[in-house]
Amino acid sequence: MRWTQTLLTTLRDAPAEAEIASHQLLLRAGLARKLTSGLYTFLPLGLRALRKVERIVREEMDRAGGLEILMPALQPPDLWEKSGRIQAAEDVLFHVKDHQDRRWILGPTHEEVVTSLVAGEVQSYRQLPRTLYQIQTKYRDEIRPRFGLMRAREFIMKDAYSFDTDETAAKKSYGAMVGAYRRIFERVGLDALQVEADTGVMGGASSHEFCVVAEIGEGELVTEEGGTYAAAIEKAEGKPAERSGVGGIMEKFPTPGIRTIADLEKKHGVLAQDQVKTLVFTNGKETILVLVRGDDEAQETKVGKVLGAGFRAAVDTEIKEAMGASPGSLGAVASTLAGKKVTVVADFALRGQTGMTTGANDNGFHFKGVDVERDLKIDTWADVRKVRQGDLSSAGKKLNVSRGIEVGHAFLLGTKYSVALEAKFLDPQGKQQPAVMGCYGIGVTRTLQAVIEVHQDKDGIRWPAAVAPYTVMLVTLDLADPAVQSATDAVIASLEKAGIDYLWDDRDERPGVKFKDADLLGFPWRVTIGAKSVAKGGVEVKCRKTGAMEMIPPAEVGSWVQNKLKS
Ligand code: ATP
Ligand code: MG
Repeated sequence: MRWTQTLLTTLRDAPAEAEIASHQLLLRAGLARKLTSGLYTFLPLGLRALRKVERIVREEMDRAGGLEILMPALQPPDLWEKSGRIQAAEDVLFHVKDHQDRRWILGPTHEEVVTSLVAGEVQSYRQLPRTLYQIQTKYRDEIRPRFGLMRAREFIMKDAYSFDTDETAAKKSYGAMVGAYRRIFERVGLDALQVEADTGVMGGASSHEFCVVAEIGEGELVTEEGGTYAAAIEKAEGKPAERSGVGGIMEKFPTPGIRTIADLEKKHGVLAQDQVKTLVFTNGKETILVLVRGDDEAQETKVGKVLGAGFRAAVDTEIKEAMGASPGSLGAVASTLAGKKVTVVADFALRGQTGMTTGANDNGFHFKGVDVERDLKIDTWADVRKVRQGDLSSAGKKLNVSRGIEVGHAFLLGTKYSVALEAKFLDPQGKQQPAVMGCYGIGVTRTLQAVIEVHQDKDGIRWPAAVAPYTVMLVTLDLADPAVQSATDAVIASLEKAGIDYLWDDRDERPGVKFKDADLLGFPWRVTIGAKSVAKGGVEVKCRKTGAMEMIPPAEVGSWVQNKLKS
């Protein structure tokens, strides 16, 4: 392909809207253009890279036994009523209306559609297991679309769904998919960690996310130093550093004007780790207190799981009414809760702690010398704290917290959807059983941008060969020189013979401009054909990743690149 014949405009500066490197490079390298917030058009080069990612995904899905199908993006809402998910998913659903005023959903995912399909197609255990997948456009009304393709309203996902006769078989299908994921991410050049994840809205028994560690990642993940434990922050468990409390009697003391944990530490010298943080939740009727150590944060997802649907943080007036005091002076000391209708959930890290300080439910007063198990009213113990850097794992190893981009997600779903949508089969005894399901998503467009985020330097992208828009950038200088022209012909012939794709920068531009663009576009190799080197019988091949240069005879460029690709 010639530069002058494709649709490619590079940008010297990043558009103001692009906050992160990969988003800037996506636009600067002419791979994609924004239509409006969260909606992008793929330009020819971007689409080439995307197709290469898709091809790898497809090959590995097929290799793992997946069967490709293609389902409609438009879905009837009654399927979502049947699965019981319509409320929980409402926040991200795009609704459309047809001319008869009927409502439709633009699919954010396809569990409902695929399960109803299988309900019709599969009758017998002999037809199982089956794993169906598609590579298709998804729609999600994200509150805050951002970072280009990373969080878009419309994006391409590979979604796969496994159907098995029982739990054991389902785990095997799950294992095959997870294995395919590992190969996919490795092939596209991503070092993706497989982390234990929360099952969230999907429901189901077990779940893993695949995350690429990156500063700009929107999720947090926890890894064990020198160990194998890895989990998403919503699910991660850890132990904070031990504190030593001294037992004794509980005493009320005045703390006028104290509103926060930090205030109490500063003005009264009570370390945050020696305080109890009291958070108030309500569903409009009931009040639940969640207690964590003062230096800990409550983890929203964990709290949500313990509290159940419908609970939210209480506002000041609700707190005052339920507790008789304001934030800053709240606590769960049993004597102060007498007559109040509240349930108390305490984090495991508070178990057995003595010498703690907590609010007295009396504005401007706290208790010290608190023995958590002796003095507080606790109804339930639970893991509700957010793991912190330096916590210890259950194996006693140090935990690190990093940011990550979630590129893939796998769930063992069980029978939630097959029961609701009647995907049943006859077992060998002739009994009807619901299929045991798994679902598996890879954000194909997000993965593409994650590749750019990871593989770049100050000059531009450094594509892994497997997904580069083109493998070679051919830069011709001295276009009018007949010797350069024939060397260019020879290089092109050798590339074509070797089946290497290339973009030929045939623009009438200064060398500096061409080199800058070659670095920005970042194909694995740049081949420069100029009068000087051609006179010496060679062309200059430069590796984008290492910067290493070699002189190669024009007719050998194709086989040289081919060999490099193999090694
Ligand atoms: P996130 O937590 O980032 O919102 P999710 O957990 O809601 O993602 P899943 O339902 O697990 O996403 O979807 C499978 C995959 O689809 C994700 O792992 C991610 O790679 C991709 N994905 C999800 N939402 C988006 C989006 N808005 N834009 C681009 N890719 C997305
Ligand atoms: Mg997910």
